Order: sequence, then C-alpha cells, then structure tokens
Amino acid sequence: MKHCCAHDETATIETTRRSFLQLAALGGGVSLLAAVLPTTNALAAGQTEALLLSCMDFRLMDDVERYMSADRKLANSYDHIVLAGASLGAITSKYPAWNKTFWQHLDIAIKLDSIHKVIVMDHRDCGAYKVILGEDFAKDPAKETAVHTTQLKKLSALIQKKYPKLEVELLLMGLEGKVEVIS
Ligand SMILES: [Zn+2]
Repeated sequence: MKHCCAHDETATIETTRRSFLQLAALGGGVSLLAAVLPTTNALAAGQTEALLLSCMDFRLMDDVERYMSADRKLANSYDHIVLAGASLGAITSKYPAWNKTFWQHLDIAIKLDSIHKVIVMDHRDCGAYKVILGEDFAKDPAKETAVHTTQLKKLSALIQKKYPKLEVELLLMGLEGKVEVIS
C-alpha cells in the first residue's frame, strides 16, 4: 500500500506540473505560475540586471546590500555570487575549484537570467587577499588599491574575452562601506 500511495502522490504532482506547463506554453501562464510556483516564475521571468561577485566578509554584507539597493537601485534585480577575495577568488591558482565555480555561475546567470553586466566588488582589508597573496595590504592603502586593481582587471579581461557582450564594472569597497570605482 505504501508504494501505491507514494506512486499516486507522484502521479498527482506530475499531472499538476504538466497542467501548469501547458498553461505556460499557451501564454499568460507566468502570472498563474507566480501564484503557485514562485521559484519557477522567478526563472521564467528571465531578466536580471547583473551578476555581483563579492567577498564573503561578514563585516560588509549589510554595506553590500545597501549599496546595491539604495545607491544602485538594484534591489532584487541582481544575481549574487560570493567567493572569498571576490576577483582574486575567481582567478587564484590556489583554489581552482573557486575559479570553476565562478565561471559556472556566470554561465548560468547568462543563460537563466540574461544578465548583461558583471559587477565585481573587492574590498579593503580583505582577509582572503592576505591568505592567498601572503601580505597585509591594508597597511598601505595606495598599494592595496594597486593590488586590487591588478586582480580586478585580470578578471575583467578574462570575462570580456569569454563574453565580449558583457559589461564589467570594477569596484573597491572600504570598511566603512564607501565604494570606489576602479577604471
Ligand atoms: Zn574579503
């Protein structure tokens, strides 16, 4: 009996899913899907401004969100991938799995959400930069800016080589949340 019930349930879910897919295929199904399957609708909408790559540093999470929402007016309009070191995390040979993860996420953001921009946000006093490059750059802000600029531009060049149509923005956030544009 157990198997039978489990089968019935699966069959019901499958039938329901098929009905929604048929409605969606007929057009106008998106709003109906929105009511019942919000996740599916988010995917079906398929339009997102940008993919943000930022560091995992817990001190800056609220600042990153505030910047993207208040300053950039992009609340709920951007994909977000977090890698320690942000740009450095995406290209460092010390953690090849992170490199792969970045490119896979970028690929999915393009396919799924039609992003047309990548925003790469490094930050000052970054622990990952210390760990990966073996130096505390925070002591010398000018040098710190130069080191981040190098990594940000390296990643930017790689992104634009692979996806020439994508716009890339390079940013450096201070610990107080102020954002500098790196050009
Ligand atoms: Zn960091």
